[in-house]
Amino acid sequence: MKIAKIEQFYPRKRMRLIKITTDTGIIGWGETTLEGKPRSTWGAVEELADYLIGKDPLTIEHHWQHIYRSAFFRGGNVLMSALSGIDQALWDISGKHFDVPAYQLMGGAVRNKIRVYAHWGIRDLSEKSLESARARLEKLQKQGGYKAFKTGPAGKWRAHEPPARIDQFVKCAYTMREWVGDDCEICFDFHGKMTPALAVEVCHEIKGMRPMFVEEPVPQENVDALKHVSDHVPFPIATGERLLSRWEFRQIFEKNAVAYIQPDGSHAGGISELKRIANMAEVYYMHIMPHCAIGPVAFSSCMQVDATVPNFLIQEQVDAGLGEDLLKEPWVVKDGHIDLPTKPGLGFELIPEEAEQNINTYEEELGGEHYYENDGSVADW
Ligand SMILES: [Mg+2]
Repeated sequence: MKIAKIEQFYPRKRMRLIKITTDTGIIGWGETTLEGKPRSTWGAVEELADYLIGKDPLTIEHHWQHIYRSAFFRGGNVLMSALSGIDQALWDISGKHFDVPAYQLMGGAVRNKIRVYAHWGIRDLSEKSLESARARLEKLQKQGGYKAFKTGPAGKWRAHEPPARIDQFVKCAYTMREWVGDDCEICFDFHGKMTPALAVEVCHEIKGMRPMFVEEPVPQENVDALKHVSDHVPFPIATGERLLSRWEFRQIFEKNAVAYIQPDGSHAGGISELKRIANMAEVYYMHIMPHCAIGPVAFSSCMQVDATVPNFLIQEQVDAGLGEDLLKEPWVVKDGHIDLPTKPGLGFELIPEEAEQNINTYEEELGGEHYYENDGSVADW
């Protein structure tokens, strides 16, 4: 079997897909969505396609090594996102070739369902915001039986903020706990927009509502700053959606900088690397909660690894991940879980006329609201 054709599509906002077709007619799908750099990743895939055409798609590890190492310059979001999508598509092809789910080729499943969390939260205490938060919570509880939710402190955060600004977020957090009760998990994504000192202060204010974790309290570049926060906060801290490959997670492990890690299946190096990062984390008693804020191909890829590693805690799931209108059979959440995928490859079939189209969403894909402080300086969003 050889790789015959590589195509790319962008069928939805924040969704870049790669389709690899073999000379035996098997098709594998991957997702290369890189928020903010869509054309760069597209170009990287075009360059890598020249290497892949005519090659055996089943030698996944060899291709991973070639793509990662052979061009001398390694890593970076653009190359790693392109590599991730290609790796996913090759696992999809392998599973379909051997007629088993991809996780079956990685030692088999260790669980029979995948626990997920939804995005839900109270943005502010205005009547309108409370009303819409209540409506979404009821929908999530009724339709999916979710028992874990994530939100974050909305808006810009300077190096320090007055009590009124902090208290507004704290009150939202405690109101959420009241609404969902003690039988649910609530977690917060600080989106890397606080200083270590402010993050510690805010975490102390919310500790009484017992969060499951706070994610990216500070940006990703400085592991010592992250560890400082972890050491001063009495509940778990998480990070990892912007870290790429085992090498960028190494310090996190060696310094015991967090409790949980959140590698992204479409950025960190695909299914192959997600599993290796998870296996490394096991040594440090860290659990994985793969990051996935994009489409159903990336989400399905994460679930293949979630199925097979013992130190899996919970999978991030945004609405788009379920594949409504893109998958022939969208993923269904019941009691806060998705049944273990059983179909060959990554476990889904895309609707060709929906998936194989290009919608011009380039402006939307540039990523990030562009935030500025009152004095015109750049703020993190
Ligand atoms: Mg995040």
